[in-house]
Amino acid sequence: MVTSVKSLGVALLGCGTVGGEVARILTQDAEELTSRCGARLELIGVGVRDTAADRGPHVDRSLITDDLAGLVERADVVIELMGGLEPAGSLIESALRAGKTVISANKALIAERLAELSTAAAESRVQFSYEAAVAGAIPILRPIRDSLAGDRITSVMGIVNGTTNYILDAMDSTGASFEDALAKAQELGYAEADPTADVEGHDAAAKAAILASLSLHTAFPLSEVYTEGITRVTAEDIASARAAGYVIKFLAIVERVEKDGEDFAAVRVHPTLLPDTHPLASVRGAYNAVYVEAENAGSLMFMGQGAGGAPTASAVMGDVISSVRRVVAGGPGRTETPTCVVTSLPHSLAETRYSIAVTVEDRPGVLEQIARVFSTHSQSIESMSQSLVTDGEGSGAAVLRIITHTGAEGDLRATVEDIHSLPAVIRKPTFMRVGGN
Ligand code: NAP
Repeated sequence: MVTSVKSLGVALLGCGTVGGEVARILTQDAEELTSRCGARLELIGVGVRDTAADRGPHVDRSLITDDLAGLVERADVVIELMGGLEPAGSLIESALRAGKTVISANKALIAERLAELSTAAAESRVQFSYEAAVAGAIPILRPIRDSLAGDRITSVMGIVNGTTNYILDAMDSTGASFEDALAKAQELGYAEADPTADVEGHDAAAKAAILASLSLHTAFPLSEVYTEGITRVTAEDIASARAAGYVIKFLAIVERVEKDGEDFAAVRVHPTLLPDTHPLASVRGAYNAVYVEAENAGSLMFMGQGAGGAPTASAVMGDVISSVRRVVAGGPGRTETPTCVVTSLPHSLAETRYSIAVTVEDRPGVLEQIARVFSTHSQSIESMSQSLVTDGEGSGAAVLRIITHTGAEGDLRATVEDIHSLPAVIRKPTFMRVGGN
């Protein structure tokens, strides 16, 4: 039992899926939290839109308010779990400027304004933490920001969106189409009624921008993240990838690329073929995982629940305790702010391997024409397999599946265009990037 500890007023902004669980932990585990951080965390208000709604047994009705700015003014610690750019952004900024400790899980806002809000925190000498914004319960931002601060991160590859991992995994294990797997994910509550942010990759892009900023010590703009969702992945893509020893995963990728002695950042989200032996290939269902490579540490893998009220609240509470410990110790320490300028590599120069499917007339000489196009664009072929289309549209044609060695995206796109213009090619070739080499 801790005696004569100081008391800190906590404002909870938002009491939905995550905020409700944070309120539960703050009230249910109050004594234990006090002894862990050395201060009593007193919930002084819960800011919401609908003040009449029932918030369950852990939220005293007298704490509910819709005056969020007034609540922030009275608090020492502000936990923002509302989501959206505004009013969350203004509330966080004013809290930081007023010297309050702030914790948020708002990936959309942080991806947009990380540098600005981190600078506000540094200027006020307060903590601004957002572990829950990327990959829910998985401790990934603190390891990148603190544990690996003395190393040089060369790449980060993450399954950071549980909805899309669930959909691709269901397509892989049941042979379902994208549409059927999405409908199942919606039925089970893994996907929202409007799944756009997940399946078009916007959610993963926000997380990629945050991962890039922290791992490269820069301010990587969300607008520079190359983003391609999973809506065009077919059951046939998945089956042919499987047959060749690959699985298709939707990855957020951050790479430090050195060109002519200068460091560039290649940051992108897209469906990626991974060898089925890669650590990320075995991440099933709605789980998240992040694979980090650093010059001295080598490879590190982090895995766990990427969403959900209680798992996300765990990460939020970790930030609360670690920030309050610093306040109790007499200061915030140094907050991570961007220290480097790392230029974004144009996506046309980003290099990876590719898997290309080309449907052609099954006649002599076609292979040779295709190989010539590859060589014209300096793309070299690693392996090729051929199967015949035996029924339906295109019956009698052959599908060539070509895996390339590493090459630039711009050269690959030019190769695909030129192959498409060959008379023997029946439809526009499709391609997917191959990772994990
Ligand atoms: P949620 O269930 O929709 O809850 C949002 C809460 O914020 C609600 O209580 C809502 O009030 C309140 N709110 C929203 N806008 C408001 C406004 N303008 N004024 C006052 N109150 C407002 O959201 P959530 O799923 O808990 O997510 C919260 C944050 O955590 C988001 O930034 C999200 O991206 C992040 N996050 C969520 C998860 C997850 O698994 N859910 C995982 C990782 C990160 P009412 O209840 O009155 O409408």
